Amino acid sequence: MHTDLVAALDIGGTKIAAALVDGRGGILVRAQRATPAQEDGDTVMRAVTDVLGDLTASPLWGRVAALGIGSAGPVDASAGTVSPVNVPGWRGYPLVERVRSAVGGLPVELIGDGVAITAAEHWQGAARGHDNALCMVVSTGVGGGLVLGGRLHPGPTGNAGHIGHISVDLDGDPCPCGSRGCVERIASGPNIARRALANGWRPGPDGDASAAAVAAAARAGDPVAVASFERAARALAAGIAATATLVEIDIAVVGGGVGKAGEVLFGPLRKALTDYATLSFVRRLEVVPAEMGTDAGLVGAAAAALTGPVKAAAAGV
Ligand SMILES: [Zn+2]
Repeated sequence: MHTDLVAALDIGGTKIAAALVDGRGGILVRAQRATPAQEDGDTVMRAVTDVLGDLTASPLWGRVAALGIGSAGPVDASAGTVSPVNVPGWRGYPLVERVRSAVGGLPVELIGDGVAITAAEHWQGAARGHDNALCMVVSTGVGGGLVLGGRLHPGPTGNAGHIGHISVDLDGDPCPCGSRGCVERIASGPNIARRALANGWRPGPDGDASAAAVAAAARAGDPVAVASFERAARALAAGIAATATLVEIDIAVVGGGVGKAGEVLFGPLRKALTDYATLSFVRRLEVVPAEMGTDAGLVGAAAAALTGPVKAAAAGV
């Protein structure tokens, strides 16, 4: 029998998704559980073995050659451990070893979720055909990953491209990561909404005070909502420009819930980039919306299983 498929596992703070994926990124079988994020580590692991059990029960399982994991971070790909911020029961949790034993010793690749969506956008989405790209998720947090020289660049521990925690405001607000003025502290959905509320924006009759509601208000011309998105756009632009200046990317892909805000975000973002990306070799930098939908994490984890980027990077390939 051909081993022409890979298994993919996407572990987040709210759900654990898994799939069997073919060599072109097509999803053939899916499974999902809610993440028991506030439970102890073994209980969380049981949800993982449950979704894996759904996959191994498939008649297609015999065709699976490897398994890729994209996990909320921080991860340590070299140690095979994860410590997701939103899953306190897992700190330095030996996820790779546990998953490998649950799937009969198959090769297992671990990458962070930002790196996973980057792998997906590079393989199937908006960064396809680009050898040097930054891909970002802007939602509850801000994550990202890099493609350099045509290859995914996960870094030694699988966290490279973590643009959400680049400081773009030296004396800015303290960030939960311990630093100050991080991109995430300014540009994440909750921070866009927080700033709009602090400056006098009020939600409509439905009480929705999310960044999506602020985006709708901005689209309708509310100046405080517009200003909150412009501030987020400047933070993103400064982070993207710093990245481009440092490693010469030619495209930045922005996805996630905030990325779906459309021109309310991308208009000021492109404008702010002209203020920060000023040197000749970064001036042509494009910023585009992500193309991969909610399956990006799974497709990216599958890409990692197919290409083994962490091992390749560690070996200097
Ligand atoms: Zn931070």
